[in-house]
Amino acid sequence: MHELSIAQNIVEIIHQYVPAAERDRVRSVFTTVGEHSGIVADSLTFSYQAITAATDLQRSMLVIEPQPFIIRCSACGTESRTEMGSIQCPACRAVETTVLSGTELRVREIELEDEPQEQS
Ligand SMILES: [Zn+2]
Repeated sequence: MHELSIAQNIVEIIHQYVPAAERDRVRSVFTTVGEHSGIVADSLTFSYQAITAATDLQRSMLVIEPQPFIIRCSACGTESRTEMGSIQCPACRAVETTVLSGTELRVREIELEDEPQEQS
């Protein structure tokens, strides 16, 4: 399953940025998922919950923010949001376009719970 390996990559990224001792304080993991990335958000959430269950990340939550598919036309310079990942410029019908966003998956922010207050 495609989303399972992506969820594993996300966990690896968390491990890279958050030291082992602090991983049980991870609350929210904010990700940006392009609407034409081929990733099914529900499936990714399910996979993430499945592989973090019974680990130090079990109380963390994956937050998925969709990123629109946007192209820039090389002929007329128009930037457009197109449906279904079309690379044709809606303004002039040219197909010489550059994809600006919408195919990526990015971990944007890892939010940790506040440090417990020292008892004095
Ligand atoms: Zn154009």
